[in-house]
Amino acid sequence: MEQILVLGGGAAGIAAAISAAESAPAGTKVVLIEQNPRIGKKLLATGNGRCNLDNTGISPERYFSSDPQTMARMLGSMEDPLQWFHSHGLLTRTDPEGRVYPYSNQATDFLNLLLYWLERLGVEIKVNCSVKSITQKNGSYRVETDQGQFTARSVICAFGGQAGPQFGTNGFGCELMKSLGLHVQSEYPCLVATQCDKPRPSGLAGIRAKAAVTLTDGEKFIAREEGEVQFTDQGLSGIVIMQLSNYLKPKGGPRRPILHIDLFPSCTEQELVNILRQRIKLMPGATAEELMTGFIHKRIGSAVWKATRLPGRLSPSDLPTLARTFKDWQFAGLTPLGWQQAQTTGGGMTLSQVDEESFMVRSMPDLYVVGETLDAAGSCGGFNLHWAFGSGITAGRHAATHLPSANHKKR
Ligand SMILES: Cc1cc2nc3c(=O)[nH]c(=O)nc-3n(C[C@H](O)[C@H](O)[C@H](O)COP(=O)(O)OP(=O)(O)OC[C@H]3O[C@@H](n4cnc5c(N)ncnc54)[C@H](O)[C@@H]3O)c2cc1C
Repeated sequence: MEQILVLGGGAAGIAAAISAAESAPAGTKVVLIEQNPRIGKKLLATGNGRCNLDNTGISPERYFSSDPQTMARMLGSMEDPLQWFHSHGLLTRTDPEGRVYPYSNQATDFLNLLLYWLERLGVEIKVNCSVKSITQKNGSYRVETDQGQFTARSVICAFGGQAGPQFGTNGFGCELMKSLGLHVQSEYPCLVATQCDKPRPSGLAGIRAKAAVTLTDGEKFIAREEGEVQFTDQGLSGIVIMQLSNYLKPKGGPRRPILHIDLFPSCTEQELVNILRQRIKLMPGATAEELMTGFIHKRIGSAVWKATRLPGRLSPSDLPTLARTFKDWQFAGLTPLGWQQAQTTGGGMTLSQVDEESFMVRSMPDLYVVGETLDAAGSCGGFNLHWAFGSGITAGRHAATHLPSANHKKR
């Protein structure tokens, strides 16, 4: 019998295995099971290969959960992954937005450090091994896989969510939790670009603009984000749009979601009218298109102009309409893209079913659930990896220190 089995070799599972192995009594066997041919596949893709592993501005407001109070308490009580990584030899750098990266700016370098600790602590890694089911029997757990059966005193489930199935995550974690009688909030793709039908920003694919974007449900304000918007073939992307996508729940989310893009957030509508009026004086007889030259990206300018539905030549009386559209360019008919493009999972296993300080399932002693399988989705910027690592480290330590034997080893 294994003593601690960690299921899923992603961020949370790797952290859990290291934390368990270093806190457990000497001689404890810790086994990490992963269905991919290698562990940490998704980790290598994070932060565009740089791995934005944490953020210095961690706060409950940066997370989405159907149980925000429990989520906030869990966030407050979990192990601080950044300190933990520093104590394991990781040098980091932090950008002005608080996003933390390995100092080498390379996810591979970070993963190599984690592999070093797994090896040094004697964690046994089984890859190409897909978990099928878990059953509880006589104080232990039996785990069925396509490579046979394992039994363990303690099991940490770190199967991830549904986002990024190309990295091995297909929603198995939540399906398994349901099969164990646990409650799961409907999952939906988060941190994802969105398709827009009204209008479809055709001809703008690849263009980026700094903007403030407000999401409303009809007239009702929902959220506002400021940063970079990226236009795509199908609609809108960029960090700002991805952040707002977390509000677009299919069930219980806004019924008439509209994105309002303000291309000039630092000036008022009247100030913009004045700027445009001066341009008309400076460039008498200029077409609307000529007037946009040197003012805004030509193609964005003509798309906004089209959205105003004003006639071909600009007259001073048109300026308020043009300024209003620059400040409130509306996109509706929103359809967030699917799991393949999403970076994280909204919904998941209800938080109240796990102990807030250990991530142990309340109704199933010695079974832990960590990471993206749980109902907590973070914003862009290192918040999801903070949750995955923090919950993994916390559960690993708890599982190890609650095994029957004393004599806990120090690394
Ligand atoms: C492209 C991309 C970029 C991202 N960038 C960032 C970023 O820079 N910063 C940030 O904070 N977050 C980022 N995220 C989100 C972050 O990577 C995840 O939230 C985080 O990895 C979740 O950790 P996890 O361990 O819970 O799940 P995962 O990392 O998804 O790991 C789950 C593991 O379980 C394995 N598994 C699943 N089912 C089985 C099974 N039946 N048997 C065996 N193994 C199984 C999977 O193969 C996988 O390896 C990004 C996500 C994506 C897709």
